[in-house]
Amino acid sequence: MARDPRYDPLFEPVKIGPVTAPNRFYQVPHCTGMGQLRPQMLAELRGVKAEGGWGVVCTEYCSIHSSSDETPYPSASLRDDDDVRNLRLMTDKVHAQGSLAGVELWYGGHTSPNLYSREIALDVASLPNSSTLGLPAQSQAMDRADIRAFREMYRAAARRALEAEFDIVYVYGNHYYLLHNFLNPAYNQRTDEYGGAAANRVRLLREVIEDVAEVVSGRSALAVRYSIPGNVEQDPQGLLDCFSLIAELPDLWDITVSDYEDEMGSSRFVSEAANQVAVKKIKSMTSKPLVCVGRFTSPDTMLAQITSATQDFIGAARPSIADPFLPQKIEQGRAEDIRECIGCNVCYAHDSLGAPIRCTQNPTMGEEWRRGWHPEIIEARHADDSVLIVGAGPAGLEAACALGKRGYSVILAEAETEPGGRINREARLPGLAEYARVRDWRLGQLARMSNVSIYPDNRLDTDSILAFDSRHVILATGARWRSDGVGRWLLQPFAGYEQQAVIGVERLLDGFTPDGHVVIYDDEHYYLGSAIALSLAMQGIEVTMVTPETALAGWSSFTTEHTPLMKALIETGVEIITNRGLTGFDAGRVQLECVYGGAESVIEADYLLPISTRLPNDDLWRALDARHDEFVANGGLSLQRIGDCRAPGIIAQAVYAGHKAARELGQNEASFKRDRLVL
Ligand code: ADP
Ligand code: SF4
Repeated sequence: MARDPRYDPLFEPVKIGPVTAPNRFYQVPHCTGMGQLRPQMLAELRGVKAEGGWGVVCTEYCSIHSSSDETPYPSASLRDDDDVRNLRLMTDKVHAQGSLAGVELWYGGHTSPNLYSREIALDVASLPNSSTLGLPAQSQAMDRADIRAFREMYRAAARRALEAEFDIVYVYGNHYYLLHNFLNPAYNQRTDEYGGAAANRVRLLREVIEDVAEVVSGRSALAVRYSIPGNVEQDPQGLLDCFSLIAELPDLWDITVSDYEDEMGSSRFVSEAANQVAVKKIKSMTSKPLVCVGRFTSPDTMLAQITSATQDFIGAARPSIADPFLPQKIEQGRAEDIRECIGCNVCYAHDSLGAPIRCTQNPTMGEEWRRGWHPEIIEARHADDSVLIVGAGPAGLEAACALGKRGYSVILAEAETEPGGRINREARLPGLAEYARVRDWRLGQLARMSNVSIYPDNRLDTDSILAFDSRHVILATGARWRSDGVGRWLLQPFAGYEQQAVIGVERLLDGFTPDGHVVIYDDEHYYLGSAIALSLAMQGIEVTMVTPETALAGWSSFTTEHTPLMKALIETGVEIITNRGLTGFDAGRVQLECVYGGAESVIEADYLLPISTRLPNDDLWRALDARHDEFVANGGLSLQRIGDCRAPGIIAQAVYAGHKAARELGQNEASFKRDRLVL
């Protein structure tokens, strides 16, 4: 199919200084948890994006000196010739597809822990380490000699960027790294020519831009990443004044908003194209091309960016992660095939954990090199076999999709009347509506596959599974929440867990409305407890959240959701109690114990909702496993369980499991395959 001509403006080439982007799809720098440690993985990942039609594909933040070292988070680096060789892997892959490669030259300053290099971080002042590790260490305040050395670091890195054949070389002026800190009067209280008025605070950024421009002159474009306030009416850092002094210097502006939780806010708190007013304002201050992200997934929203002259490119990190082939799908008139980002920030979370990137929607993300998975291409079926999948949650749906694409004859049976599994319940909670895209994208794909049949309202048992005579059976029967509190803190059920006033998660999500004070005991630490708390509080129900951890919903800090989450809970009147473990529930009294000293306390409550761990729905698996001889005798070849019924985890893990099972089906079939650990 051809593209809708309305979208032609998205495919116009755009000149960036001496180079020309083939279209307006621009993958801005984004971290991957690969960086300098995993250059092959990284090169393949970026190459796939270029193949999918992104006209510009950039690196993640790329360290220019050993005193800018983010260990344990693996940034890219361009510090020496080995780094040049590593990054050439990427530029070659990107160029092979006709796209431009950009490199984001980065110096961290007081954010850098320097745990590997053990060097001292330079910064505008002697500032405390601000990495998430919160090291008890400070940066060295730069004197004039340091500033000269720093400028030379940038020049040298720019020379190496040319050697590595990058087409766009970035100066990184935002995200509270060194160059941004010079702009920020809260940090920059210098009394020399680099402190004081905007012209002084912007001096170092200007000098570095000029230095890099001199090095790359005519051979590659120069881009600057720069922050602006989300609300341009309030600009305490004077970022707009500083911008006005350098507005015409680079070939391209890559704009972000100052607050990271806004810039890459999760869909719980930030919607698509959220910062357009601020972006438009800054666009009016420069004649240079400009790019900015906005978690754009709708081609119409993208088009509006261009036609309203808000920006010149469609900047994307997450949409390009969820669907590396997004541009090609618009180009080919297949917009409905775009695997839309759900805004969960699981991609970012894994970089924050120092691990390779992954994506809830796109199970191939991060596996392009290691497993050789391509997001759009999958090996054809190895035989004319049928596959029965039991359970249509994220794992079962993804397995059905991928097996359907492979050409297998697939039957997907689901006990509930609607396919979707946990998604159906969770996406109804405040802020989680976009999670439904995990289900809806897959159902959309399956609807067009004549070789896949979905049978909702069909709870299968062992006999009915064996009666299907399918050669392959995949159980994806999910898991259910425990209501006895057993989890990380409690190893045995709490006293009184069988009472009616103890609500289970499923009972609540299926429509039970408590009519009094609810205590939510959260020993899960991700999004569910807080999402339920917000839902109840928004209905006017009094809610108290108790956690045995020091911070409530601590894992959400990896997904940048913790701060807005706490704000939302506090604003809706949810009371939060930390460092308390649950010991019992008796006659409307929730009994707690201090996790440090053991001091006991009590909260009066009408209901208690414990959220801790889940029990795999694996009865069916065990019953079938016991009859596997019968299954084999019937011609069965493989029997496996995937997703939450094997080991409960986040949605991304279930989708991945479904995809992996589908990719691997038919391999190593010499012997009967079960999901035993093969060493
Ligand atoms: P996952 O995240 O692993 O995909 P979910 O809990 O989201 O797991 O989905 C599991 C799905 O399996 C649910 O929709 C559930 O109704 C379905 N299911 C569980 N047992 C059976 C069964 N015996 N027959 C058919 N479907 C089942
Ligand atoms: Fe989007 Fe979530 Fe995938 Fe990140 S992990 S790209 S936020 S769907």
